[in-house]
Amino acid sequence: MRKLRFLIALWASKACLRLLRLLKRNATCTPGKIALAIDKKFLGGLRLPKTVIAVTGTNGKTTVSNLLTDILTQNGYRVTNNSLGSNIQAGIASALLEDSDLLGRAKKDIAVLEVDERSSLLVYPYVKPDFLVCNNIMRDSIKRNAHTEFISYIISSALPEKTHLILNGDDLNASTLAPQCENRTYFGVEAEKPEESAVPFISDVVYCPDCGGTLQAEYLRYNHIGRMYCPDCGKKSPERSFVVTDIDRKNNTFTVRHPAGEDTYSLISDNIVNVYNFCGTIALLTGLGLSYEQISRGFDAGKIVKSRFDQVRCGGRTITSLMAKGQNPIACARCFDYIAHVPGENKGLIISEDDVEDNNGNSESTCWLYDCDYSYLQNKSIRQIVFAGPRCYDHLLRARLAGVDPAKITLEPVAANAASALDLTACQDIYLLHDMYRAKDTAVVKKALIEKLGGADGEN
Ligand SMILES: [Zn+2]
Repeated sequence: MRKLRFLIALWASKACLRLLRLLKRNATCTPGKIALAIDKKFLGGLRLPKTVIAVTGTNGKTTVSNLLTDILTQNGYRVTNNSLGSNIQAGIASALLEDSDLLGRAKKDIAVLEVDERSSLLVYPYVKPDFLVCNNIMRDSIKRNAHTEFISYIISSALPEKTHLILNGDDLNASTLAPQCENRTYFGVEAEKPEESAVPFISDVVYCPDCGGTLQAEYLRYNHIGRMYCPDCGKKSPERSFVVTDIDRKNNTFTVRHPAGEDTYSLISDNIVNVYNFCGTIALLTGLGLSYEQISRGFDAGKIVKSRFDQVRCGGRTITSLMAKGQNPIACARCFDYIAHVPGENKGLIISEDDVEDNNGNSESTCWLYDCDYSYLQNKSIRQIVFAGPRCYDHLLRARLAGVDPAKITLEPVAANAASALDLTACQDIYLLHDMYRAKDTAVVKKALIEKLGGADGEN
């Protein structure tokens, strides 16, 4: 009976998938929803690929999943992944059922699954990962994710003992996940470590996870990312076996020290957040048995998905667009920090972060603005900031509270009109920061800016 229910779910969802494809509709979630509506334990009926990799954590999941998929595919592996679809249970079911035969047996060698932290309890009891990468656990949308202790708890309680964990050793939330899993590899970044430890505005790790004592920092890079120790019981950030020891921004390379030596790779993005993503990716692929040559070729050809980071050169200027999910204070603050400290003077910044869909069906929450560190925007290299979209007034208030000079702030309530609010005589390089729902408006703004500047280099 169990088997029959599973097969009906599989065939119905596969028929739906075929139909959606014929209609040229997005088929990355609905087939999975149908399968799970018919059989709640559908994921448990599938015969999975030989190796299953799960990628989880607050920030960086998509970047790591895409890199893993690209590098594995480049090396001849046949990979199932949910990179085009959703990372909750239905999206994972859709990806797996698409790449299975009519009896539910996997047709690919390996699955790379981006798994939303909140779906852990629905996914891992059925899809038991051989490897799991976790880059960080930080505060996220308070409405969706509550707090980090809750997220750590559900991931930890859902993971099977056999999973080999690849964890950020510079994040005490991530590195202490699932103590039942003995096979653990830690990675981190030693390069460019801060001289002294500034007290972070926001930290999600304050007390020792073992004894509850107040933790001290050897140094903190941002938020709780860095090296910490407990003076009361001696608990400290774990030793890392994959460590970035050098970031060479001039030659666009980075160096990783590991148990067998030291290797240098092409640097696809110099944002420190991504350097962590890269190191975790390398630790995992090495664990899978790929050689340095196989991995480094992937980094030579690698790229960050264009919707998340894109640069256009325009008459001697650069227009950079960056995506940071709305409601996610840390992702946004990381982008502010990156823009403030990237080389260059006279930067112009257009920020369209209002997570406009957030108020559909329930109430909108703007409390995340106060968990985001706006003080980076004080940086003198930033000449003008345009807050765009209906939440521009909230951003203005938050920025003023953070001590940002009001003289450099301009407001434009209609996000798509923001290009005309930017003073191109005062600003040299331009940064467009948007959330998922403002990607279209930012594309309009970018097009208008490119036209004003006489077209992108190479196009005219
Ligand atoms: Zn302690």
